[in-house]
Order: sequence, then C-alpha cells, then structure tokens
Amino acid sequence: MRTRSLHTLPPRRVRVRFLCCGICGSDLSTFEGRREIDYPVSLGHEFVAEVVAVGEAVEGTAPGDFVTSDLNYRCCACDHCRAGRSHLCRRRGDGLFSNRSFAEFADIDASYLTRLAGPQRHFALTEPLSCVLHAKRWVRPTADERILVVGAGGLGSCLAFALCDESVGFEIVETLPRRRATIASAVEPVGRAVTRAEGEYDAVFDLSGSESGLRLACARVRSGGRLCTMSHLDGYSKADFLLAALTRRDIAFKVSFINGKRATMDTAAALLAKSWNSRWEQVIEVLPLDRLQSAFEARRHSPYCQTLVEVAAPVGDRG
Ligand SMILES: [Zn+2]
Ligand SMILES: [Zn+2]
Repeated sequence: MRTRSLHTLPPRRVRVRFLCCGICGSDLSTFEGRREIDYPVSLGHEFVAEVVAVGEAVEGTAPGDFVTSDLNYRCCACDHCRAGRSHLCRRRGDGLFSNRSFAEFADIDASYLTRLAGPQRHFALTEPLSCVLHAKRWVRPTADERILVVGAGGLGSCLAFALCDESVGFEIVETLPRRRATIASAVEPVGRAVTRAEGEYDAVFDLSGSESGLRLACARVRSGGRLCTMSHLDGYSKADFLLAALTRRDIAFKVSFINGKRATMDTAAALLAKSWNSRWEQVIEVLPLDRLQSAFEARRHSPYCQTLVEVAAPVGDRG
C-alpha cells in the first residue's frame, strides 16, 4: 500500500471519497503484467464515490452527491468531440484523474463525473454498461434475430442486463460452469445461458477478453452478419487468425472502444436506476478492501460475473 497526501483542491476538480469499485478486464490485465506500460500504476475506475469537496469553479456538484466517472477527458473542441465521438478525443490522454479508485480519496476533473441516484454498489457498473451500450448501438440487435454474447464477465453481464431490459432474446455462452449458472438465473426467460453455441447467429458480441472467445465469435457469425468485439487481448494473442477467419464472408466487424458520446454515461446510470433488481444483484460479488489482492487473483475464475470491492462504508452505515 502506498500513501500520498492530498494537495489544495484545484478550481475545476471535485474531491471524492471512494465507496466501491469494480475490477475491469483492463485492471486485471494490468495487474497480471500483460500490458506494455510503466509500473507501478494505480488501478480502478468503475466506482461509486461520494463528493466531499468541490473546487471554486465547479458548478452543479456539491458535497454529499454520489458520482461515478468517465475514463477520459473530452475537450469538446477537437474534430472527434465535435463529431459526437468524444471518447476518441485528441486530448483524451490528458489524465485529469489524479488517482484511481482502490484508494481513499481522489481529486477528479468535474467534467468526468456522472451524478448517481444513490450510493448503491451496482452503480459501479455505470462505466462498463456505458461501453456495452456504445457497442450495442452499432450492432442494433433486434428481437427477431439470433444474437450471441460470448462471455459472462463484467461486460457480458452488463450487455445481458441491457438486452433483457429491452426484451431482445439472446444466448450467452460461458465456459465456467458456476458463472454460467449465475448468469442463467438472471437472464431467463429473455436470454439463455448455454455451454456451447450451435449454428449461426445474425450478430455476435465477443466480450470474452480471450482469443478462444474471439475465435468462437468468428466461427458462429453468419456470412453477412455483424461481429463486435470488445476484447483487447493484451499480451494474449496477435490475433493473426482474424483476417483469415473473416475473409470472403462479408462480415461487418467492429472493434468497439469505450462509450461514444459523454451522454452514454448518463444513459447507463439511468438504466441501472430503473431496472437493476435483486435478481441482478446475484451476478455480482462484493468483497472488502482487505481482500483486494485475492479479489484480483480469483477474478478470472470467479463464479460471479463481476467482482466489486467495498472501499469504504456508505453514508449512514458509518459508526
Ligand atoms: Zn472498465
Ligand atoms: Zn476532444
């Protein structure tokens, strides 16, 4: 554990106290040393936090608000921002996020924050849900199509949640038997959790984070169909099979990246506020902060679709 002291709050930043944070696939691949970046790094971005102070230039956010954050700075002025693709902002690497969220506090640029309806832990899924909503907007799955979701991890379960909300039927294939049983009880009867994908699908989402998952997606999408992957495969594969797997088949292929417009975060937060329920609560596990190391080590084989880590007790629960 490293400690750093807090400095004077800059005018446009908001000081937050983290309550809960999910383990993203990108955190996991970083933890496992699969990314070509400089270590040490601070991890965690899928969080719920409470505002404790605001800089003097911040409007519309006050202490006591509950918030989550987008990953990227959006300058609102570059060509991508102006064209509605602000997730690709030319300045998105500016990094105005002073810390990551397996920490006590951070000072975050106010423009990153999305207001939440409450401190409930499932709001930690806002950012990953915003990413699958962006992918889904491109795929446009409809109820009369055969839809396949590969992988029931954090992203797969978020997509399943969104598809169930719209009553768009789908199959979700998951290789871990206990995780498959977990997602099965949440998606039925709209969706169906399967051991194997059979036949052809009109649209396939690969959210497996694995080469085998991407290969399965390529094998199962029908010719003329749509294939959308969110797997980055850091350090796993060169994916050199990809062109051969898709060639001569007229496949529309998208490598979907984060969440599109800034408003997608608000859409995701609103969807969680509207439709999350006790059934979906079963797909997440919540571990205390002192089990952070083992939470990361166990994530790949966890029976739960997503692991959230409780960083601090919510307001009202504090003794
Ligand atoms: Zn993430
Ligand atoms: Zn920009």
